[in-house]
Amino acid sequence: MRCTRCEGLMVREKFEDLGALGPNDYEYAGWRCINCGEIVDPVIAAHRRLTSRPVASHSALTTV
Ligand SMILES: [Zn+2]
Repeated sequence: MRCTRCEGLMVREKFEDLGALGPNDYEYAGWRCINCGEIVDPVIAAHRRLTSRPVASHSALTTV
């Protein structure tokens, strides 16, 4: 996977949500750029998909 910011190499990394409620640590896997430190996690990726969908459908409508 390449960094969206600098095209650098991104490595798989585990993150912990220290603000999680309860005794269980909430861990999730994400990507971190070893070049610029850009972090992409599933939450951010899902958010980008959600926010980019209306734009994509809109542009598809305008091209048709
Ligand atoms: Zn980067």
